[in-house]
This record gives sequence, C-alpha cells and structure tokens, in this order.
Amino acid sequence: MASDRYINRGFGLKQAIGGQLVRDYHSDVVERMRAQGFRLEAGDLTFLLAQEFGFCYGVDRAVDYAYETREKFPDRRIFITGEIIHNPGVNQRLADMGIRFLDGRDVGASFDGLNQDDVVILPAFGVPAEQMTFLRRMDCILVDTTCGSVLNVWKNVEKYARESFTALIHGKYAHEETQATASRALMIPGGHYIVVRDMDETRLVCAQIEGRGDRELFLARFAPALSPGFDPEVQLGRLGCANQTTMLSSESMAIAEAVRQSMVQRWGADEAAKRFRAFDTICSATQERQDAVHALLREHRMDLMLVIGGYNSSNTTHLVEIAAEKVQAYHIQNAACVDGPTLLRHQPLGGRSEAAATDWLPEGVAVVGITAGASTPNSEIGKVVERIASFCGVAVA
Ligand code: SF4
Repeated sequence: MASDRYINRGFGLKQAIGGQLVRDYHSDVVERMRAQGFRLEAGDLTFLLAQEFGFCYGVDRAVDYAYETREKFPDRRIFITGEIIHNPGVNQRLADMGIRFLDGRDVGASFDGLNQDDVVILPAFGVPAEQMTFLRRMDCILVDTTCGSVLNVWKNVEKYARESFTALIHGKYAHEETQATASRALMIPGGHYIVVRDMDETRLVCAQIEGRGDRELFLARFAPALSPGFDPEVQLGRLGCANQTTMLSSESMAIAEAVRQSMVQRWGADEAAKRFRAFDTICSATQERQDAVHALLREHRMDLMLVIGGYNSSNTTHLVEIAAEKVQAYHIQNAACVDGPTLLRHQPLGGRSEAAATDWLPEGVAVVGITAGASTPNSEIGKVVERIASFCGVAVA
C-alpha cells in the first residue's frame, strides 16, 4: 500500500527526468533501424535487429523510479539494495548520481547504518521478505520498483504455500529474483520450496518423487536450493510449479511436464491431478524477446549474431542459447567488447569469464544479427552497431 514512506508508483516526475533518460539511454541508430524494418545497411554490412529487444517494461519503470527518486530527494542519502537491473552501465550511472549500493561494493554503505532519513530503492527483481521486514523496521523511505510480473509469481508461490503445496521454482537459486520469490513461500507457516535450475536437476527430483532416488544424495545436492527442514518424502508429495520470470520458456514447460508425469507415476492420474499444479510465470517481455530471436533466425540468413547484455543477466543468457542453436552467437556485455574486426571479447555460453574471439567478423559482405537482453539500453545497442561499422570504414551515425 503506497504511503509517504512506501512509494511504488513513482513521484510523477517523468517530465523532469525525461531529458536525462534520453541523454543516457536513447539511440538514434536504433530508432533508424526500427523505422527501416529493423535493419540497417552500411557498406558491405547488414545489421538485422530482433523486433523485440532491450529494456522491458519492468526495467523501464525501475530505472525511471530511480532517476525520479534522485530528483525528488536531492539532499538525502539514497541507497539501493543491490543492482537495480543486471547492466553494469546502468548501475554505474546510478552510482555516478550518488546512489549507493548496500550489497557490499560501496565501503561504508550497509543495512546496519541506515536510518529513517534515508531513502532505499528496491530493485526490479524485488528483495527477500526478511530484508523487506528489516527495512520497514528501520522506517526508511522505501521506493519499491519490484516488477508487476515478479509480484505475480510471488502471489502464486504464497497461494501454493497456503494450500500446502511446495513451490518448485525453475530458476537459479542464487539469482536475486529467485531468492526473493523463494522467501515468499516461507512467509506462510509450513511453506516450502525447491529451486531447480534445469532439466538435469529436474530428473533428480523426478527420481525422488517416483521413489527411485537416494534421499541423502538428494538432500546434499539440493542443499542450498531447499527450504529449511525440507523432507523429500513429505514436501515432494504436493507440488506447484513456478518460474524465475526470465528462464527459457520451452525448458520451463518441459520441466513442469516431467514433474507432472512423475506425480502420475507415483500417485496415479486422479490423485496426481490433486497433488500437482503448474502456473507459467515467464513474463511476457521475456517471452517476446525469445520469440523475436526465433523469428529472426527463421526469416534470415545471418553470418553471426551478437546478444548484448550483462554477463549475469539471466534473460540475456537464454537469448544466446536460442541463437546458438542456429548460428554463431556471441554474448557481449557492451560496445567496448568489440575491439576490432579481428578481436571480440565475449562470454561463451555456460562460461563464467570472458574469452576472446579472433576473426569473428567475416571479411567482405556480412549479415550481423543483433538483439539485447531486457536490461540493455538502446544506447549500448547503437554503439555496438556504430563501432562495428566504423571498424569496417563506414559510418552509420
Ligand atoms: S524481465 Fe520481465 S519480470 Fe523482469 S523486470 Fe522485465 S518485465 Fe519484469
């Protein structure tokens, strides 16, 4: 509920910050591509842009609210619990505006040092329930940018817990959004959760449901991804599926179906129908960006595809996964990764550090597909295009 100490609808200062947002994140090149049917030709190069890309509605709103907060409280200390979104450039911009991070990166900025004159921004992924309780107790001014699609997942997880279903969350247990989502199950007495990352982990859960698994191995393997006191014999008896909003939707559906089949195997069809629920909580923005990459790959021949976004951005990684099935795909964090036609710094799929690709751009005529994760501003996309073109001796600006 909004009040003067809890704000979740902005401050009505959109006009005041409009100029800054355009300066920081707009790209004329991207607008030109959009107007030209999501393509741009420059010398021997053709750039093809996916029709849905970049900032989603949740990120747009979170970034707007952060800028509005700075505008509204020019003299107060403003903190954010962690990255507002998974984009290093945007987080740095907030740091440049004097917003400090409570995740340990800013010396002296800590939850314990907060007081009621401080303003704390909650990011688009939301925060765990216990952190929210702490912040409310400190009586800070809270600017909550949690995305509506994330709130929708929480609603489902809480409902599962109220009805004695364990939430089986397809996600990455260390991801901020999944931690926040899992914490919602614990708000209800007796609530439980398990987080599964992929189909391999789901198979272990299925074996356990069907009575084929080893209890101790299971508990050891999933230890960080289980609610406290998780007893597989009891908690896997009634399951409700949910997802981190940015997972690969095809994988989420396959996971739900595999779990459903195991419940049928264990309990029989009629009983399983009472013991299993699924709710697709992939957000529409994630789905649209994934669909747009599928469409781009279906409709065009490309020499390579560049996917631009933070290396820790889940939705960006899934776009790379989709692209890599059909074409040479590179995940780059920003335009600076394009070092020249013979050197590109990128994070290989499944990797945890940057690698260098040499001779990544074919000589002569080349068709380059481009998309960007939901936390990537248009300005970064435009810079990538400009930089590649300039290395090839053509200008697009
Ligand atoms: S990716 Fe989806 S859930 Fe996440 S902020 Fe964007 S719209 Fe919201």
